[in-house]
Amino acid sequence: MHNFRIGHGYDVHRLTEGRELILGGVHIPHTTGLLGHSDADVLAHAIADALLGALALGDIGKHFPDTDPQYKGADSLKLLAAVATLLRTKGYQIGNVDATILAQKPKLAPHIGVMCQNLADAMDISVEQVSVKATTEEGLGFTGELQGMAAHAVCLVYKP
Ligand code: MG
Repeated sequence: MHNFRIGHGYDVHRLTEGRELILGGVHIPHTTGLLGHSDADVLAHAIADALLGALALGDIGKHFPDTDPQYKGADSLKLLAAVATLLRTKGYQIGNVDATILAQKPKLAPHIGVMCQNLADAMDISVEQVSVKATTEEGLGFTGELQGMAAHAVCLVYKP
C-alpha cells in the first residue's frame, strides 16, 4: 500500500466593482474584482481545499472562518502556506497540484507563470509541481455572464 492520497477543491467568488482582482497572488488589472472576506483569491482557495481534502481535514472555511476578523482581507497565499505546513506536520509531502480557473475575462495567459511561481513558493514546492490553466465557459453560466469566477484543483500528496 503506497501512502498516496488525492484531493479535490472547488471554489467560487462573486465579481464586483471596487475590488482588486487577485488570482494566484497576482494583482491583475481589471474593471472588477472578486468579493470575499479575505482577498478572495479563488485559485488559492481551491488549491488549499484540495490539500485539506487529500487528508480529510475539512476545508479552508473550517480552518480560517470568514467570521474571524483576523482573516479579513487576508492574503490567501498565506492561508495556503499554512495549509501546506499543516500537511507536512501530518507527515505528508505534496506531489503535484493541477488547477483550472473558469473566467470569461480578462485574458489570464500572461499571468499564469507568475501564479504558478507564487503558489509554488507558498506551498514550498518547485514550480514544476504546479499547473494552472484557465478557460472560459464560452459565455455560459455565471462565469460567462461575468457574475463570478470559479476554480477547480486536484492534488496528489504522499507520505515518504
Ligand atoms: Mg473562497
